[in-house]
Amino acid sequence: MTISWIAERMPCGCGIRKFAPEETYDIEYCPKHKAAQDLYEAAKVALYWLDNTKKGDTVMADMLRQALAKADGGELLELRLG
Ligand SMILES: [Zn+2]
Repeated sequence: MTISWIAERMPCGCGIRKFAPEETYDIEYCPKHKAAQDLYEAAKVALYWLDNTKKGDTVMADMLRQALAKADGGELLELRLG
């Protein structure tokens, strides 16, 4: 019989669930981190729209660019949509 428990919880709410006797683990994401991929894709679309409506030099566009660069590991990647 498998039993599991949250072995460690991060301040955001993400947790590491361990399973015994298999000695495996899984990550249980908090709501914010569960939505991270959707937010990332939405930010790319929003930045694409801002850049292509001649509003790319707004504070919002700069914030999106910085957040996307951070999510991409610190490098600003070229946007590829579609
Ligand atoms: Zn989290």
